[in-house]
Amino acid sequence: MTSNIPISRIRDIGIMAHIDAGKTTTTERILYYTGVTYKIGEVHDGQAVMDWMEQEQERGITITSAATTCFWKDHRINIIDTPGHVDFTIEVERSLRVLDGAIAVFDAVAGVEPQSETVWRQADRYNVPRLAFINKMDRIGADVFRTLRMIIDRLQANPVLIQLPLGSEDKFQGIIDLIEMQALIYDEDNLGATYRVAQIPAEATSQAEEYRNRMVATLAELDDEIMRCYLEDEPVEAAALRNVLRRGTIGLKVTPVLCGSAFKNKGIQPLLDAVINYLPAPNDVPPIQGINDRGEIVQRPADEKGPLTALAFKLLSDPYVGHLTFLRLYSGTLFSGSSVYNANKGTKEKIGRLLKMHANKREEIKEASAGDIIAAVGLRQTSTGDTLCDERAPIILESLEIPVPVIDVA
Ligand code: GDP
Repeated sequence: MTSNIPISRIRDIGIMAHIDAGKTTTTERILYYTGVTYKIGEVHDGQAVMDWMEQEQERGITITSAATTCFWKDHRINIIDTPGHVDFTIEVERSLRVLDGAIAVFDAVAGVEPQSETVWRQADRYNVPRLAFINKMDRIGADVFRTLRMIIDRLQANPVLIQLPLGSEDKFQGIIDLIEMQALIYDEDNLGATYRVAQIPAEATSQAEEYRNRMVATLAELDDEIMRCYLEDEPVEAAALRNVLRRGTIGLKVTPVLCGSAFKNKGIQPLLDAVINYLPAPNDVPPIQGINDRGEIVQRPADEKGPLTALAFKLLSDPYVGHLTFLRLYSGTLFSGSSVYNANKGTKEKIGRLLKMHANKREEIKEASAGDIIAAVGLRQTSTGDTLCDERAPIILESLEIPVPVIDVA
């Protein structure tokens, strides 16, 4: 795996949830599945999945890193740890700043809980595009539709159900993909680690059609061509729906809703597909803003050829490599061994080793560019919240006391 992934195929995301909704389990499963593709390159080989899972469980994987990098279908997904604090703290604020999109995990029985409401509002404040994952579909009392109502009533969101559950509680066996209009049935013999694509069962067809229509009706509000098809009762292609859903999600107009059971390994692969299909790449979101040395507000578009702009968002002490500074790169390219300017402190500091943290290993890299999230070893003078940049183009990204107005870019 190299760093040479185009920026359009990077996703910097967080996973947010009320405590106990399944954030840890969902994150772990994501790392298992992406680890399988990463190591073995074969997702549909169930045995490989299970062997890998057992092996990794024995060794104990690190998912508590501030940011973990994984791969899914030629995309790099950086999962940023979002603290589950109830309070609005600078730490939560900082983690929301460095991510471009998020998965909000809900418990299908409890629905929208107080803490899910709090993190949702924080994400609203930071304009973070989201997917909703209704987890624990295997539990007694699981109800996608009730949770969906709560998402509308309590979060004032505009959710679009893109999957229906097939069966529920101990009979939860898979989902109906309302975009492709097909069923994905999880393989019980393999603890749900693999699925097969099947026709929608006859008894579920009318409900699937009803909910696909609802999805089309919601998306028609965002797109004239879909509106025309909807009004004229013409079929809408899956690709067109995906396209509008992506635009709508990134534009914060809609929230795609998926369901599954992380614990039973059901629903994770479609969730990963949705991350790459609907959540934004670093260059799909508005450019980051900061203050330059003349006190002016400037923007830094996500461009690897632009001036170096990186935010130190977390400091960690790693037992093996020592002092780590996690950086989100917004613009430019950072090389190991180079010298950078800390605009907050007005000092220069040398970058030592650069690392990418994977679930099961650390990868040493020579350079990183716009959109990436990496850890630098041995930066002694840099604190969290500091901006590292090019001395000739100084910028301070975090200036929390100054409200940054939204600038309309034509
Ligand atoms: P977190 O606090 O949000 O990180 O939640 P965890 O991932 O630690 O999960 C909380 C509890 O719910 C644990 O006991 C999990 O085993 C359980 N859990 C997670 N996902 C599921 C699921 O899909 N179904 C069921 N039945 N239990 C789950």
